[in-house]
Amino acid sequence: MFAVAGVVVLLLAAVVTLAVTLTFSSFATAVRPAGIFVPTEADGLIAADTPLTVDDDTHPALQRLDPALLEALRSAQVAAEADGIRFDITSGWRSVDLQRRLLADAVRTYGSEELAREYVATPETSSHVTGRAVDIGTLDAQLWIMEHGREWGLCQTYANERWHFERATEPGGECPVQKLDARG
Ligand SMILES: [Zn+2]
Repeated sequence: MFAVAGVVVLLLAAVVTLAVTLTFSSFATAVRPAGIFVPTEADGLIAADTPLTVDDDTHPALQRLDPALLEALRSAQVAAEADGIRFDITSGWRSVDLQRRLLADAVRTYGSEELAREYVATPETSSHVTGRAVDIGTLDAQLWIMEHGREWGLCQTYANERWHFERATEPGGECPVQKLDARG
């Protein structure tokens, strides 16, 4: 008799667990309706905790970079490595959808489109969307590229973004005067 009761209790527990699981999964579906854009690796999204290296050639953020920029980065990285510096790439090529999303996020963060535009360009103007810009993490690497980058044509192009680099001159040339911010 007790054995039967035990089985009944177990079955009830299983049914309740299933019901709760189904309820929560339909809730999760309900709060993220179809049509909301969720950026993925295919949009060039790089996870914040796993930046790329210059050799990570399976990721669209690097694959879709301007080949001259990627080549410059790889050559510069070889030289930087001798100084113990590694370039952590936190952003490269981005899809139009990803850029639009970043701008929308920045508008929320900064409270106005005007302020957001100082840091995030529109899809129409962003050099990330055309594959002509990378963002490099870690201050060490940023300072290294600011000092030596122009040997490979790499320049910091926005005065307020010490992490953002483009191939903005010929190797060994002078970097152009920096723009004030992402408004251009
Ligand atoms: Zn950038």
